[in-house]
Amino acid sequence: MPDLQIHQFSCLSDNFGVLIHDPGSGMTASIDAPEEAAVERALQETGWSLSHILVTHYHGDHTQGIAGLKQTHGATVIGPVGEADKIPTLDQTVSDGDSFQFGGFKVDVIATPGHTLGQVNFHLPEAAVAFTGDTLFALGCGRVFEGSHAMMWQSLDTLRSRLPDETAIYCGHEYTLANGRFALTVDPDNVALQARMTEIEALREAGKPTLPTTMAKERATNPFLRPEDPAIQAILGMTGAAPEAVFSEIRRRKDSI
Ligand code: ZN
Ligand code: FE
Repeated sequence: MPDLQIHQFSCLSDNFGVLIHDPGSGMTASIDAPEEAAVERALQETGWSLSHILVTHYHGDHTQGIAGLKQTHGATVIGPVGEADKIPTLDQTVSDGDSFQFGGFKVDVIATPGHTLGQVNFHLPEAAVAFTGDTLFALGCGRVFEGSHAMMWQSLDTLRSRLPDETAIYCGHEYTLANGRFALTVDPDNVALQARMTEIEALREAGKPTLPTTMAKERATNPFLRPEDPAIQAILGMTGAAPEAVFSEIRRRKDSI
């Protein structure tokens, strides 16, 4: 099977757009559609023709390009059943545990409520890649706008257990530098985090994206995936506390800066 090809680009103020292309079938999907013009430019650069749009959640900075792209390209729009009422352009709805084919690749749908109640993430196990929307960010996680902290923790724990270490993670936003600065406040002695921050600062100074990341890197350095870590628990004064409670405290502190 030919490799899945992936083209990531920046758009809006800090969003990522991503195109995925299956050379075997010729299919191309846009992961969310933050900005129609930016997706069109990416299609021109790659020479790929858009067949699908995979939607993680209904927020405008992930959906506002859909209608125009659908009209121009006739793309099939696939997104979360729980947000179908808020995404009128959907052609197919998916829910947790569903799988569908994108050309030669299986796409597993993982529900990750918390940032929004209906949010879904897309995992292509044969390509070792996952699109985590506004759920899992590099060194962070999405703000919990609609669900509870417990719900968001459950979603992250699901990703943590489902996605193998080598999985490349693409997410909705370039927030890594600010996330990393916060991460150091709750996990200051983490050598892997310190080393990663040096890399991230260099990338940002060079104007380069810090994504994709990998599950291995996130497991080692993302405090929101590490609430069992004794050093983090000690800093928070929560030694022995349940992971869900530690996660909630980390989220609360991040929200208050
Ligand atoms: Zn969002
Ligand atoms: Fe967003």
